[in-house]
Amino acid sequence: MGDLVIEVDVAVVGGGPGGYSAAFRCAELGLETVVVDAGKRLGGACLWEGCIPSKALLHVAALIEDAERARELGVDFGEPRVSLDPLRKWKAERVVGRLARGLASVAKAKGVEVIGGRAVFESSRELRVEGDEPQKVRFTHAVIATGSAPAGLPGLTVSSDRVIDSTAALELADVPERLLVIGGGYIGLELGQVYAALGSAVTLVEMTDGLLPGVDRALVHPLARRCEKLFAQIRLGARVTSLVERGSAIEARFDGDGVAAFDRVLVAVGRQPASAGLGLEYTRVSADARGFIGVDDHCRTTDPAIYAVGDVTGEPMLAHRAMRQGKVAAEVMAGRPAAFDNVVVPAVVFTDPEVAWCGLTESEAEREGRTVKVAKREWAAAGRALTLGRSDGLTKLIADPDSGRVLGVGIVGPGAGELIAEGALAVETALTVEDLAATIHAHPTLSETLMEAAEALLRG
Ligand code: FAD
Ligand code: NAD
Repeated sequence: MGDLVIEVDVAVVGGGPGGYSAAFRCAELGLETVVVDAGKRLGGACLWEGCIPSKALLHVAALIEDAERARELGVDFGEPRVSLDPLRKWKAERVVGRLARGLASVAKAKGVEVIGGRAVFESSRELRVEGDEPQKVRFTHAVIATGSAPAGLPGLTVSSDRVIDSTAALELADVPERLLVIGGGYIGLELGQVYAALGSAVTLVEMTDGLLPGVDRALVHPLARRCEKLFAQIRLGARVTSLVERGSAIEARFDGDGVAAFDRVLVAVGRQPASAGLGLEYTRVSADARGFIGVDDHCRTTDPAIYAVGDVTGEPMLAHRAMRQGKVAAEVMAGRPAAFDNVVVPAVVFTDPEVAWCGLTESEAEREGRTVKVAKREWAAAGRALTLGRSDGLTKLIADPDSGRVLGVGIVGPGAGELIAEGALAVETALTVEDLAATIHAHPTLSETLMEAAEALLRG
């Protein structure tokens, strides 16, 4: 007996936000669609080991920190006592589990079948599913949405369950007394803050000379100050040169500056595309040296039958970019006019304070030699910020001096991740600074800082 062969219009490989968004839209547009996912489930890294569990834990960290801040306002809840079992259960069942059940029922309602197993392309028309029930899927079009996986530390391999990646860190096996975080990017800062709030003494090592390299320094500054208070130590411009397991600890050696022991080490030095072993050599899809699959703004690869979306297509590796690409790919496959021609992909680091930005930054403008007008609104005199006991924020607007168009927005402060939506809308829809200044923003809200920054910019 040969393998079971099924024929579909669209085979989506990978059930993360890119894959399920593509599959759902394909089904809505009348295309018979299956998703092949190695875990036989929808949600991908975002739901199971990324955005959602990390934000659940960051919410708990924020509760702990707010309770501590409340003391200054005359309210004392006492010392927090964290029970890991109920916390893990809440995260797994009431947050991740509930969303997973939701995705599964949407798939069922739309008639999208989810096949479990690893997909390997055999040609530009067929793929093989390796798993419990091997089968082949023949397709008119395929979408590669295989995402990404944590990158390792080049030259530093230590096989110890004390050296963990973000997936293991989110499982919350324990709260280590001494945690070393390698990498001061999104994950190092978000999860470093989670563990610090839960009680770990966190040492963070970042190889560049600042946290969140590439992000506007004025936005990073309040976050860096908060981290200096929360973390035991921050080592900038530093690297770990060796990790050795000694007894029940990991000994880390830093370049030029000593040795220290830790109970766990979280490696958060970036992610790499999951494109190896996919059988791309049997298709006409091409990937770059790092494994990222090149796509045009219709999400087409170099193989006319195969599209790619999400992290596997490169930076920025963010769930909302993957989702938008997924929808674009579906529309294009269904013959509709669509393109990934978005002006901005907003970015949010969900730390305390949150850092969010979209569009052009001041340093990008400088690098490009482009003249821009910049306005900053410190939150120290913003009514809503003070009522929240939080004056550590800043709202920044970058605009074109001739047309007045808003080109970029940066915000740091609690709630920046929600506030950036207005900035994204402004840049995407070519609003002017005058539009923002003339729009009535409810009082007292943090959103007024956008209006006030716009007013400041108009005043010159
Ligand atoms: P993925 O979500 O990675 O899904 C890929 C799927 O493909 C997986 O289910 C995988 O099992 C499957 N797969 C891979 N290869 C095969 C194969 N050969 N056959 C079958 N199936 C296969 N982004 C944000 O926007 N906001 C956040 O707050 C945020 N927080 C994050 C926190 C952490 C700790 C991490 C790690 C990431 C975070 N991200 C966040 C990034 C976000 O998770 C990714 O950008 C997003 O998941 C990418 O979606 P995707 O569809 O491209 O791939
Ligand atoms: P990252 O690229 O954000 O940060 C990695 C950091 O590690 C950088 O600052 C880099 O300079 C540093 N680094 C690299 N090698 C190092 C070394 N040997 N020693 C010390 N520092 C080193 O990567 P990440 O934090 O692993 O996150 C991966 C991706 O996942 C992000 O780029 C983002 O796309 C996504 N993500 C997004 C969110 C969010 O949207 N809130 C949250 C988590 C992850």
